[in-house]
Amino acid sequence: MSSGAQKYKVMAVLYRGGKAAQEEPRLLGTVENKLGLEGWLREGGHEFIVTDDKEGPNSVFQQNIADTDVLITTPFHPAYLTADLFAKAKKLKLCITAGVGSDHIDLNAANKHKVTVAEVTGSNVVSVAEHVVMSMLLLVRNFVPAHEQIERGQWNVADVARNSFDLEGKVIGTVGAGRIGQRVLKRLVAFDPKELLYFDYAPMPAEAAAALNIRRVADLGDMVSQCDIVTINCPLHENTKGLFNKELLAKMKKGSWLVNTARGAICVAEDVAEALKSGHLNGYAGDVWNVQPAPSDHPWRTMKNTQGGGNGMVPHMSGTTLDAQYRYATGAQEILRRWTAGEKQESANLIVENGEYATKAYGERTKK
Ligand code: NAP
Repeated sequence: MSSGAQKYKVMAVLYRGGKAAQEEPRLLGTVENKLGLEGWLREGGHEFIVTDDKEGPNSVFQQNIADTDVLITTPFHPAYLTADLFAKAKKLKLCITAGVGSDHIDLNAANKHKVTVAEVTGSNVVSVAEHVVMSMLLLVRNFVPAHEQIERGQWNVADVARNSFDLEGKVIGTVGAGRIGQRVLKRLVAFDPKELLYFDYAPMPAEAAAALNIRRVADLGDMVSQCDIVTINCPLHENTKGLFNKELLAKMKKGSWLVNTARGAICVAEDVAEALKSGHLNGYAGDVWNVQPAPSDHPWRTMKNTQGGGNGMVPHMSGTTLDAQYRYATGAQEILRRWTAGEKQESANLIVENGEYATKAYGERTKK
């Protein structure tokens, strides 16, 4: 970055890494390691504020938003940029999501204020797809209660084997067959499922669908009713918020499994917990929560199926492996470099620009 160029105030809201971040410099997405951007930004003469303090009007995030030019956030510790905050953010020109999924930013407000929103598309899709397949296996094989039994010093094969199955021969469906959905399906082929299904607005390219031997189902309720396992891989927007509620869950097969690494708010937390408790769902796994960090009494922390298992919840971590952190940190830097140099962004990274959704259809589809 040339030192003669214009100077900006850049703010990054990241999660605190503590001891782990001090010991592991590759934890780039932390307050301590600052996405690896500090030296580069300071060298360019820019002001760089990094914080994890994001809630309430006195938080560092809200106190600094008024004169910030560029805001960098991640979905892992989301700083919610609401319409109210956009109205205060008079100097804001660019929001970068270091990762994939910018639902924590009010995109209509971004359009209204002509703020560009860009994310590092594709940066962690393999990481998430691997986590999805792992989550399916740990639910279907009843792994978590079996491991907990071992830690307790017990040994009771029957108690855990009575709810352990193979992935082979199951019907598996994805809601959303984009970058992550397609990668999940591709990985599942190796397990010889009975059938792979998908529900999405648009059909997948014929060649890709044929290679995966996958069938599109036009109605979501119809698809989930055929599946032993459902995986959610669509974005959170007005039409997917609370999509998996009592009604849709009731259409799922009794004893089926649900994996959600997309966004917590796509499912109604209490309805999922109830479906598990009643035995309608045999398991639920994922890493995304409707509030992050999740409160200590969130029902998804402790919910169980009728046999005391079926919970594969972890903190929001599927898309933040060290490999993914390297990709989204370098990707965020590249977006920033292009912006300061006045260069065009890679079109796949753009969510909104110049007051419009980069993909016009997305703006239409996300309206109720
Ligand atoms: P993508 O390539 O854009 O794929 C998403 C697909 O879902 C698109 O084909 C989209 O269609 C489709 N879709 C949108 N609304 C839908 C609906 N109501 N029903 C069915 N399909 C719908 O995105 P991706 O990279 O696969 O990521 C998907 C989501 O995963 C992200 O939005 C993010 O929320 C989440 N994610 C989570 C993590 C994590 O760490 N847990 C990491 C990365 C991403 P159109 O393109 O036609 O709209």
